[in-house]
Amino acid sequence: MSTTGDKLPLVGSRAQNTMTQTTKKSNEPLKTDSLDKIRNIGFIAHIDAGKTTVTEQVLFVTGRIHRVGGVDEGTTAMDWMPQEKERGITITAAATNASWNDYQLNIIDTPGHVDFTAEVERSLRVLDGGIVVLDAVAGVQSQSETVWRQADTYDVPRICFVNKMDRVGASYERTIESIRRRLRANPVAVQLPIGEESEFRGVVDLIDGTATIYPSSAKGNGQKGNAHLDRLTQAPIPPECQESFQTYRQSMVEKIVETDETLLIQYLEGEQIEGDALRHALRRATISGELVPVLCGSAMGGKGVEPLLDGIIDYLPSPLDIPPVEGIDPRTEKTVIRLPDDDAPLAALAFKVATDPYVGRLVFLRIYSGKILTGGSVTNVTKGHRERMGRLLRMHANSREELEEVSAGDICAAVGLKDTFTGDTIGGATEQVILEPPKFPEPVVSVAIEPGSRADQDKLTDALRKLSDEDPTFVVKYNNETGQTVMSGMGELHLEVLVDRMRREFNVEAHVGKPRVSYREALTKSVCVEGRFVRQTGGHGQFGHVWLELEPLEQGGGIVFENAIVGGKIPREYISAVEKGVREAVNNGPLAGYPLVDLKIRLVDGSYHQVDSSELAFRSAGILAIRQGVPRGSPVLLEPIANLEVVTPGEYLSDVLGDLGTRRAQIGTIEGQDRLQTVRALLPLGETFSYTTALRSATQGRASYTMEFRHYQPVPENVLRSLLAVA
Ligand code: GDP
Repeated sequence: MSTTGDKLPLVGSRAQNTMTQTTKKSNEPLKTDSLDKIRNIGFIAHIDAGKTTVTEQVLFVTGRIHRVGGVDEGTTAMDWMPQEKERGITITAAATNASWNDYQLNIIDTPGHVDFTAEVERSLRVLDGGIVVLDAVAGVQSQSETVWRQADTYDVPRICFVNKMDRVGASYERTIESIRRRLRANPVAVQLPIGEESEFRGVVDLIDGTATIYPSSAKGNGQKGNAHLDRLTQAPIPPECQESFQTYRQSMVEKIVETDETLLIQYLEGEQIEGDALRHALRRATISGELVPVLCGSAMGGKGVEPLLDGIIDYLPSPLDIPPVEGIDPRTEKTVIRLPDDDAPLAALAFKVATDPYVGRLVFLRIYSGKILTGGSVTNVTKGHRERMGRLLRMHANSREELEEVSAGDICAAVGLKDTFTGDTIGGATEQVILEPPKFPEPVVSVAIEPGSRADQDKLTDALRKLSDEDPTFVVKYNNETGQTVMSGMGELHLEVLVDRMRREFNVEAHVGKPRVSYREALTKSVCVEGRFVRQTGGHGQFGHVWLELEPLEQGGGIVFENAIVGGKIPREYISAVEKGVREAVNNGPLAGYPLVDLKIRLVDGSYHQVDSSELAFRSAGILAIRQGVPRGSPVLLEPIANLEVVTPGEYLSDVLGDLGTRRAQIGTIEGQDRLQTVRALLPLGETFSYTTALRSATQGRASYTMEFRHYQPVPENVLRSLLAVA
């Protein structure tokens, strides 16, 4: 991550964000004339940390909704899909919009459940900044760790919001410590809670030395528009907080000045450093990833939300603060950069496709450069075809606002793009680039699906097509041999939710088979292998001859084909035929016919015949070489492994562990806190099916768990034998 150095504008200074300023009507339609007033942000968290509640409060405080919904009553604005309401989880990355003072917030909702990896990946790809919501009792939990790592990959600057300060057992200090320890980040508290647990009343701003105190009844339910302004009062720091204020402030100042040489000198010379200068330096350090500002509150109690909004404006980047996007020029295949400028050529990334019950197919776009107009003609650069841009919409969870044009840096939903999918780049007629698409993992769990009745067949096909159109980690395949339709996704829950959606949105009843994990095969050593395809039948013969080097790659390496032929030993036109054959052959591994993964195939040598060589012969030679070569590379069968975190009351710990023992689990850590025990383990995904029921009966429904696909790992010998016996 690079910063834009001293040019960073100083925004969101306290002078703007005082009480008098916020009385300005914030529920008017948004008008932003400068990019530095946009924040493309997302709330990221472990399930149940309170992300939905925080988002609701933000929408309420900024005046976009007039009543705060409650997750527990199933009335929130962001979680608008019925399943989400029932399950209390946010599944789709709905993009919504809000304004705070003169700033525009595009809020991309990220799912808390990591079974929906595609949603996390796609949103991180287009976010400029993230707010990591943590539970003040639980501290950093496993999914926050996962998402943190993903956010690192995309260089997304972050701030942390320690939520649920009102809960019994809440600790700001311990949570900050867990940020340091588990996320290996450098947290800097910019607030101090006033009271903890039921005494939690508000926050002290460590930079300005002012306090925001909420009346104990502040919640927001049923209040109108800017009623939140009655909820807080600015006050001097309460006497009981004075001592910790001094300690926390000093530690904050020291951390900030360490990131800025000028301030460091001033500080060492004993000079007073102004609040704005501290904020400016902290903003830069946050954007460069050196520091992570930490704020706190209680979303359910409606406390700490306004200061959080200020923090988002103050510390998270605008589209101008992040490095300009890079793309590949499809003509020259060279890397080019695109500036966030309306006058630059258009480059927009489609980061989500959704089917809206009212307007139909929606494509969510992040515009990186140039601007798009409603009704204009554009090019899907990735696919190489023209598309007509229909209406442009700004989404507010499940309602929408029409726009005439959308500028660089902004996010919108487009109607009318028929053949554009997640990851595609939209550009103009000339000066095109292809932006890097988000990375999606291959699905790891499959089930067979069939319609409930013959009449449902067509509807099922249509529903499967639309759902896989929306979700790149949901793949549907028809098996010609068995006549079965098989759908694959990232976990049991992911597939259950999709079947549920088919029933509700498409009115299709379907029978689903037992879930099965997707195994893979891989080589463990390199081999060099020859493939000769020679046929002499009457007149014309067939001749194709190749030498391939097969080399195992790191996990996630995919299948890489490299042409290392020199001196025209194989003419160019036959090389792509070899690649075709090779790619076909790796779909069936030597052990049990599962796809081979993580393999580099180099075409190093071969020969051809003037008359008898053909594409078919070289394709066949490629297939033969793979078939003969892979059994010699000591192949192994790989199975998907899940990360599991179970939180259980202590008295059930031994039952939980006993059950995990029967599932080939590898126990990582067991940590206790307030009578609750947290067990972290790795276990084969194939052993996790129906875990919900097993855990419920072992603990009388008092334990909870989260699970996510982690990686592939070789299957142990004894399990391999029984698997191969069945296969
Ligand atoms: P998400 O899964 O991260 O979106 O979390 P939710 O917003 O759905 O909240 C999970 C649970 O925590 C719900 O029962 C909320 O009512 C509760 N919750 C959220 N914020 C707070 C808070 O500030 N204090 C307390 N005590 N509970 C909260």
